[in-house]
Amino acid sequence: MKMQFNRSTVAVAIALASAPLFAMQQAPANQEPPKPAPAKQEPAKPQEKPKQETPAKPEAKPAAAPARMAPVSIPVTGLTPEGIEKVKGSLTALKQPVWVCPACKEMSDAKGTCTACKKELTAENLPVFATVTPDAKAGTVNFTLAEGLRVNLSELERALATGGAKVDTAKLTLAGNSVLMVQGPTSEEDAKKLETALKSSKLFSNVQIDHKAESRDYKIMATAGEKAPTQAEIAKAVEQVGNGFKLVDVGWYAPKRLG
Ligand SMILES: [Zn+2]
Repeated sequence: MKMQFNRSTVAVAIALASAPLFAMQQAPANQEPPKPAPAKQEPAKPQEKPKQETPAKPEAKPAAAPARMAPVSIPVTGLTPEGIEKVKGSLTALKQPVWVCPACKEMSDAKGTCTACKKELTAENLPVFATVTPDAKAGTVNFTLAEGLRVNLSELERALATGGAKVDTAKLTLAGNSVLMVQGPTSEEDAKKLETALKSSKLFSNVQIDHKAESRDYKIMATAGEKAPTQAEIAKAVEQVGNGFKLVDVGWYAPKRLG
């Protein structure tokens, strides 16, 4: 007859052998038989053994956050304690004419009816900034735009000029979403060339060109890449396309919250 030793018989033998020692060291009431070492268990791998009893739940999506614009910081030169009040006043006075639905607040650049509630849109002139702070010491103007509105660099420059200050365009970077206003040749072939050049420039993660046939104006919605490009780098990339392409203005916009 063969003696069979398996893991549990060994564990029991050890438990019996050590029992008297335990009895001497511990009060009998607390005595517990030592547990055999549990067999090492590999955690079940979900790919190999899909569990039938837990059906896949649809991924919980976080509630859509309201579309908010990240604060923008513009480098500025010539901002003095004396000029700052004028600059602040001029910036605060910047407005954008828009057509707004009286019911759902849908906005449009043109007169018409609301696409959602079919109501007649009403003309309004809204302050573009939610917040705007010129800082003479830091040499910056920090701002956030009001929902759905936009501001161009040329407008900022005019406002700053009232207090003798200027945008430091050499240091200006365009993070996040911005609009590039470009002028150039009119053909669709050239439009394609501009698009290809900007997309391969690595300055942006996304580029969308809005160009009407035979127009010299190109409006480009651009999203900065990982590293925000400077305005100077963008201007250079546009000029390098050739045929007289040039960057004439840049702008920032705050998306309109939906719903
Ligand atoms: Zn509406």
